Amino acid sequence: MSAPVVALSGGVGGAKLAQGLSDLVDGEALTVIVNTGDDFEHLGLHISPDIDSVVYAMAGLDDPRRGWGRRDESWAFMAALTALGGPDWFALGDGDLAMHVERTRRLAAGVRLGAVTQALATALGVRARIVPMSDDAVRTRVHTDQGVLAFQEYFVHRRCEPRIRSFRFEGVERARAHAAAIGALRDPGLRAVVICPSNPFVSIDPILAVPGMRAALGQVCAPVIAVTPIVGGRAVKGPAAKMLAELGLAVSGESVAQHYAGLIDAFVFDVADGQAPAPAGPPGMRGFRLDTLMRGPEERRRLAAEVLALADRLAAEGFTGRAGRVRALDPSG
Ligand code: GDP
Repeated sequence: MSAPVVALSGGVGGAKLAQGLSDLVDGEALTVIVNTGDDFEHLGLHISPDIDSVVYAMAGLDDPRRGWGRRDESWAFMAALTALGGPDWFALGDGDLAMHVERTRRLAAGVRLGAVTQALATALGVRARIVPMSDDAVRTRVHTDQGVLAFQEYFVHRRCEPRIRSFRFEGVERARAHAAAIGALRDPGLRAVVICPSNPFVSIDPILAVPGMRAALGQVCAPVIAVTPIVGGRAVKGPAAKMLAELGLAVSGESVAQHYAGLIDAFVFDVADGQAPAPAGPPGMRGFRLDTLMRGPEERRRLAAEVLALADRLAAEGFTGRAGRVRALDPSG
């Protein structure tokens, strides 16, 4: 059994690296803590877009060409719904729909989101632990120049066009971090915590906002490494670059590194964003530079291996990161 690893992930970008990690870390030794701030109710169904992206990627069912949903999907339901005059702004493939129907059925029967997620992931052949950040409802609200919007209204319906002012994670104060997430972070044998290349504002921040999550991250006994979602001064996909600009920040890995200052030991910049040596990153943080663009399964696996090797190197050097986080990395401490 390999040493345990924890990943924090949003949807598509995070799922790629999580899948690469699952090639290298045995079964349950990998715990992926997933954002549920994007979850919403649609057509009476509970939809968990980020959980599904991670589950599909790790089950080998993701569609690398479209970048979301399941591969080899059929669309009979959507065509029938549209013909009836039903809402067509959120595309639901037939296989994807089955996931939402079955999740909703189990939740209505009283099973909690974490248990439902694990059962559905296992049914699809996933051996890693995929854990929602919380069983409790947290909903991301986007404050924009066109008012306060529910996340999917902003993201899908309005195609991220409104200008961002700020974000709120409704319900987060009362949410409890999932016990399996906290348990994984407290594991004394932990090898690494990887913050996947996900949107820092709407994928990773909701996870960090759940009470207890930051504290647990601050006490882990392994290096915490974040991978940039910005490659060549742009987001590979989605609104991360637009959000950085609208928040008055430079569209760069440095801005994302700064965003995680105090939380991580190292930040991985992309090779497309300059020449070695990597920028040092904010104080207390080491910077590295890797090819982070994951075009296919080999690149997911290669990047995962390189990030784990970095964690091992930091641990071997006794690197304890920012002041106050002096823990088991120092065997004498
Ligand atoms: P979402 O919830 O589906 O939007 O997914 P995430 O938040 O997990 O991922 C979105 C982020 O992933 C975007 O900011 C992308 O720039 C980033 N991303 C997607 N693919 C890659 C990749 O191959 N490499 C890197 N470094 N970032 C990526």
